[in-house]
Amino acid sequence: MPSQTLVKQVDRWIDAHKKDLVDLTCRLVNIDTTVPPGLNYPRISQVLASELKDLGVTPTVSLIPEASMRLKVSPEVGLKGPRPNTYATLKGEGEGPWVLLNGHVDVVPADPSGWSHDPFEPVVKNGKVYGRGAADVKGSNACEIFSMKALVETGAKFRGRITPTFTTDEEVGGYSGVNYLVDKHVITKDVDYCLSTDSGIEALHVASLGDAEYLITVHGRAAHSGRGWTGVNAIEFGASLIEDLKKLGEEISKRRSRINAEPGWGIKKMKPGLYVNTAKGGLKGNIIPDTFEILVDRRFIPEESEAQVRREIARVVKEFAAKHREVKVSMKMLLGYDPMLTSPNHPLVRTVRRVARKVLGRDTPSCGSQGSTDMAAVSALGIPIAVLGATRQDSNIHGIDEHVRINDLVSVTKILAHTFLELL
Ligand SMILES: [Zn+2]
Repeated sequence: MPSQTLVKQVDRWIDAHKKDLVDLTCRLVNIDTTVPPGLNYPRISQVLASELKDLGVTPTVSLIPEASMRLKVSPEVGLKGPRPNTYATLKGEGEGPWVLLNGHVDVVPADPSGWSHDPFEPVVKNGKVYGRGAADVKGSNACEIFSMKALVETGAKFRGRITPTFTTDEEVGGYSGVNYLVDKHVITKDVDYCLSTDSGIEALHVASLGDAEYLITVHGRAAHSGRGWTGVNAIEFGASLIEDLKKLGEEISKRRSRINAEPGWGIKKMKPGLYVNTAKGGLKGNIIPDTFEILVDRRFIPEESEAQVRREIARVVKEFAAKHREVKVSMKMLLGYDPMLTSPNHPLVRTVRRVARKVLGRDTPSCGSQGSTDMAAVSALGIPIAVLGATRQDSNIHGIDEHVRINDLVSVTKILAHTFLELL
């Protein structure tokens, strides 16, 4: 347990540097890092690296080689340009746990026409910072920097080490960020705790859904419509396969995880789903279509695995194919994201909740996100993860006039700094 005097000193330092925290948030928002394609990554990496240098550590900027990109990321995602991931290690005095910190640098596109101002010209108004990425997740990246600055500047002693990582392409399910650092052994099993800020301040995320997309193709035979009976209509057969998939989806939607769901969406426990989200077929009005493509998006709970959900869909496809010998059916996986899961009773989760209660004066209940996250790659190493950041339900992330509350930035910075002092 850190001494109360030290905690107060750290809090005072953070309060006194609120302006700088807002200023860094604005500087990060000001760099348009829209993905795809992944604009200005070297520029934002430079700013973050120079902030890390101010902590007295030597940052590393790691570029994923072009060849690995080609191998791991399908061209349809539309990524272009260099993809620098920035990290460093802040060492305490003596042996102790290893804490990994993560935030992503990319933002989703912003259509300026709906905004009250240019999305990449941050505006500070009524205690909030407005701009694309202010909430998701550049404000929280600034919190990470200032939580470590608070320790360094107040001379707070800690053991072990903290490794902040600022990574690319989270918003496109990219391999090039966190996954690459895992494959490069920058992030290893030896990490004791991981804190991610890619989430909100209303609850503590300990889990997220897995996501897998499957492309199912029904192959028939093209023919002139005038002699339509000589062809095999892939769309008409495919329509009945969609019905079968819908039935499976209804069955799946009754399942629940044991993990509580995030509040505000009308479900008590995390919920899986199967959805037919695109269907494409047909060339012309006078040709019997020979192919029909059905894209299934399967969101799965931590209790399910990708292999299991794939088998389930494959069974429906196989039964359909056995009933309709006129067509051939193939299936392939397009992308996969595993679920993330940390036990809600893990000491890390209990610590962050206790610290957050002290800073916020209320509980941050642990729950699972209905989204999917790149933290799954860290979770797969068996590393416990707690996700808490500065967004709120009304922050309008990915929407117009996205914003973050300055008070929340201050709170998240304190929660991070206190958590370091508790863990290290
Ligand atoms: Zn995010």
